[in-house]
Amino acid sequence: MCGIVAYIGQNEAFPVLIKGLQLLEYRGYDSTGVATLNGTLNLYKQKGKVQDLLNFTANKKTDGTVGIGHTRWATHGQPDNQNAHPHVSHSGRLSLVHNGIIENYATLKTALQNKGYHFSSQTDTEVLAHLIEDIQTEQLVPLDEAVRLALQQVRGSYAIVIMDKDDKTRLIAARKSSPLAIGICKNGEFIVASDAMPIVEYTNDIIYLDDEEIALIDLINGLKITTLDNKSVALNIQRVDLSPEMFGKGKFDTYMLKEIYEQPSVLRSMINARLDPQYRILFDELLPHMDKFLKARRIIITACGTSWHAGLVAKYLFENLARITVDVEYASEFRYRNPVLFPDDIVIAISQSGETADTLAAIELVKEQGIFTYSLVNAVGSSIARLTDAVSYLHVGPEIGVASTKAFTGQVTLLSLLAIHLGYMGGKIPTQQYTELSKELEKLPQILAKTLICNAQTQKIAYLLKNHKNALYLGRGYNFPVALEGALKLKEISYIHAEGYPAAEMKHGPIALIDENMPLVVLATNESQKEKIASNMHEIKARKGIIIAIVDEHDTQITQIADYVIVVPAIAEPFSPIVSVIPLQLLSYHTAVALRCNVDQPRNLAKSVTVE
Ligand code: GLU
Repeated sequence: MCGIVAYIGQNEAFPVLIKGLQLLEYRGYDSTGVATLNGTLNLYKQKGKVQDLLNFTANKKTDGTVGIGHTRWATHGQPDNQNAHPHVSHSGRLSLVHNGIIENYATLKTALQNKGYHFSSQTDTEVLAHLIEDIQTEQLVPLDEAVRLALQQVRGSYAIVIMDKDDKTRLIAARKSSPLAIGICKNGEFIVASDAMPIVEYTNDIIYLDDEEIALIDLINGLKITTLDNKSVALNIQRVDLSPEMFGKGKFDTYMLKEIYEQPSVLRSMINARLDPQYRILFDELLPHMDKFLKARRIIITACGTSWHAGLVAKYLFENLARITVDVEYASEFRYRNPVLFPDDIVIAISQSGETADTLAAIELVKEQGIFTYSLVNAVGSSIARLTDAVSYLHVGPEIGVASTKAFTGQVTLLSLLAIHLGYMGGKIPTQQYTELSKELEKLPQILAKTLICNAQTQKIAYLLKNHKNALYLGRGYNFPVALEGALKLKEISYIHAEGYPAAEMKHGPIALIDENMPLVVLATNESQKEKIASNMHEIKARKGIIIAIVDEHDTQITQIADYVIVVPAIAEPFSPIVSVIPLQLLSYHTAVALRCNVDQPRNLAKSVTVE
């Protein structure tokens, strides 16, 4: 995780770095640091957020037209001033920021300590600063060559930017398994960052570094990229379609609430772009691969966190609508399990950021076996998008709140479109049903806009939920994955312990937890399971559990049993997860606000999980 920003040009670096770090804070926020250069090195590091660093540097010297900055999510060494980046080499000449993990740092550190190098932090990162300097002084090579030789000795993941105190005309950047983008401005400036957000205020021309590439960013001679084995790389400049306004909170207090409210409009854009006037579903990017999909023995979906929940909804969708066998795998388990794969399997990766380390590694593993890979990703140009054989972008705009909302509904909507498309193409869905389902999906944005009316009701119920230490979320069928997602949302932003369960599984253990102090959120919007859900609710009531039920507008039965009811509009059952998750997002949001938690930056979490 962690965010990196660097600047080199004619203007002051410090404001660019601070603004960039604020935009990247979603990636990690336990400590922050910057270094700028103007003859001398101005280096400041602080435990806490970017604002803490800004307060700390208020009357300090920060001038310089070149600089590097970092917002950290600690992997090695606790979050404190010493472990914050940038880290400085033994002589004080090199300073460096790093995102990732140097897995063999202990061996390298011992070797450097034996040579007399002193370490002032517990991080894995510091080893890089000393190692590069050691190579530079021993082998008398230029800095970029020393970086190349040092990185050849390193195992693990890195995105790094290095600055030399004696050379304010150059920066060196490199990456492996952690993202790094270089913005190329018309006036000769360069901005390097973990993603495009800090860059697009200055330029839309961006180069995404590939794994094992090293960039020599030179104000006089321009940009040069080489590989770790010293081959020169042609510059692949992409024009990114992002603007700075996309990164604001608009009229909302938090990114999370803004993103919840954006769902109708971003899904409208997605659906409009995917449906033609005859309600035929368009997946142009999959045209060359359709045969593979239709002949697939099995689809394996691999993902982490909320994306894994979207994958689980897809299992219900694909099996039901397209009659394709689907396995859903946690990427972190799948990649280390030596899974049995068949040549006619298809592996689908789902990741909002497209940088999730375990998902990326899972795709690398299956690609080695020649299996066809496809990804659903939000961040354009991200590692997973580039690695897979085909990609469909969500295009739901940047998601900055750490708890995923619009990316989840975006993933499930796109997977719904795909399931219907595959079902029709494979002859499992007749034309009439195909058109009906497409028409129903077209109504989804309008239905979601109506669903958001439940905001006031969820806020009231949040006042009840906030007084409890535990909660259970129950759902059946299409709504089982939504129960998991609702519980995750509550845990991650309000720190209330919550578990999601298939409603009928309750009898096999969780029912023992139910008493008058246990709130249970029951998803009851799927018509086909309503009676079964009602029976489960009676079992809860018999044990005095407090039931908060999510029902649709036609319900009369569930409302009678529940203690509290949140009503949402009705929709065809396969799409019910996209609607029923909305009150759960709002419920967790209002609970967290009532508990005065930081909803956008919950403790210990980061948005883009680029470490395993
Ligand atoms: N491993 C480094 C550290 O713990 C970098 C972590 C990050 O990517 O934020 O400082």
